[in-house]
Amino acid sequence: MDADVYSKYTVVIGLEVHAQLQTQSKIYSSDSTEFGNSPNTNVSVITLGHPGTLPRLNRKVVEYAIRIGLACSSEISRYNIFDRKNYFYPDLPKGYQLTQDRTPICIGGTVTVSPKNAEDREIRLNRIHIEEDAGKSLHLPEESDTLVDFNRAGVPLIEIVTEPDLRTPEEAYAFLAEIRQLVRYLDICDGNMEEGSLRCDANISIMPAGSDTFGKKVEIKNMNSLRNVQRALEHEIERQVMLAEKGEEIISETRTFNETTGTTSGMRTKEELNDYRYFPDPDLSPLVVSEEWLAAIEEKMPVLPRELVKKYVQEYDLPEYDARVLTDSKEIASYFEEIISHTDQYKAASNWMMGPVKSYLNEHTIEIGDFRLTPVRLVDLMKLVESGKVSFSIASQRIFPVMVEDTDSSAAEIAKRLNLIQESDSGAIEQLVDDVVADFPDKVTAYRKGQKGLLGMFMGEVMKRGKGKINPKMANELLRNKLG
Ligand code: ADP
Ligand code: MG
Repeated sequence: MDADVYSKYTVVIGLEVHAQLQTQSKIYSSDSTEFGNSPNTNVSVITLGHPGTLPRLNRKVVEYAIRIGLACSSEISRYNIFDRKNYFYPDLPKGYQLTQDRTPICIGGTVTVSPKNAEDREIRLNRIHIEEDAGKSLHLPEESDTLVDFNRAGVPLIEIVTEPDLRTPEEAYAFLAEIRQLVRYLDICDGNMEEGSLRCDANISIMPAGSDTFGKKVEIKNMNSLRNVQRALEHEIERQVMLAEKGEEIISETRTFNETTGTTSGMRTKEELNDYRYFPDPDLSPLVVSEEWLAAIEEKMPVLPRELVKKYVQEYDLPEYDARVLTDSKEIASYFEEIISHTDQYKAASNWMMGPVKSYLNEHTIEIGDFRLTPVRLVDLMKLVESGKVSFSIASQRIFPVMVEDTDSSAAEIAKRLNLIQESDSGAIEQLVDDVVADFPDKVTAYRKGQKGLLGMFMGEVMKRGKGKINPKMANELLRNKLG
């Protein structure tokens, strides 16, 4: 379909994002939350919902949920009740899920998204509430029965629900990227979509462009990466627009995404949905968030990525692009921060991070936490470049890789050992310049007649003869003088 057809419609998207909180123990018991243990080993009678057992709320869960609420400028509910959401499913041992229906811990708030090639936009949140995860049903090929693993049952979750403010699949992608970065900065969730610690359901509808009455929404489930959320939404827009163009009705339903075909297919229609008969859990007393507790959580809030970007641009005069790359993860940002606590060469530091350091991490598929070159030693190398004793390219290509391995020698020692100290003796450089000028009389004449572009060729020749160890600034000056 061509773009004209699409421009007749406005797309409306709202997301529901579940994040598993990385607490040691579950939300209502002391059972471990560890991922990957043998099935049904992280289970006690509480997790299994045996009669007579009582849930006891894990304080950390509430703190984590409040952290993200503060990060999104949500209003924090001081009075919280926990509701039972009743439904029958084999992986739900109690026959109900504990969630927050009437009093979400965080109300409202906003998240700014930066979609690719489009303006930043503020997306309003409807709420963030606390709930527990269910177990997992396993349908193994060699088994005719369904197996159930309750390890995940009772693992704490937050659900972040947006208002229907998103308008493109790119914005949805950017929203999730923002949330993933945020939960990682806040140390409340590992943000891993492939392993299911971050999960997203996407609601999408279309309406005639300019209308303010939303169309019927379709909910898409089963997307395990940011890219797949975007793909699923792109496909769903096409499907809905096609239906609308044919004058067919779009029905409210839940659809599942197939990542192999890139398409969605119907799972159940809205009418078949359960009535959950929510009611407050009588076993849990209401939770009151005191002002003291809230203040203590607020005090421990880390600097958030967007604030860091602002600081890097305004205080360090870095390009916005650099600032974003440097703040992509908290670990990269703190490495950078340590560098600049020893030098005020912000742009040079950024270049080192975005160039040699990133390439090294990529090539060796390691994280910055496993990188053996300390920020202080990188500063040592930067200072060697600054002093003019080696060029950036020699430093990054020859000295840097050695420094990563040889953790005892200084940058200068390695440079000396490898015989890489740059010639800054003007006499020696002058000799080289004289030789080059003498070897290319025709080019010299051409240069003097106005072909100034030849300077590059002369420079190249001087540098080549100096085996890259010539101070380029000095060589350039001497050449210009010589050529007149
Ligand atoms: P439901 O009652 O079906 O659970 P909610 O109003 O609670 O629906 O909204 C669930 C999610 O769907 C929210 O993220 C919301 O922003 C989104 N949403 C609501 N209406 C629409 C719509 N017409 N089109 C797209 N998304 C929508
Ligand atoms: Mg709802």
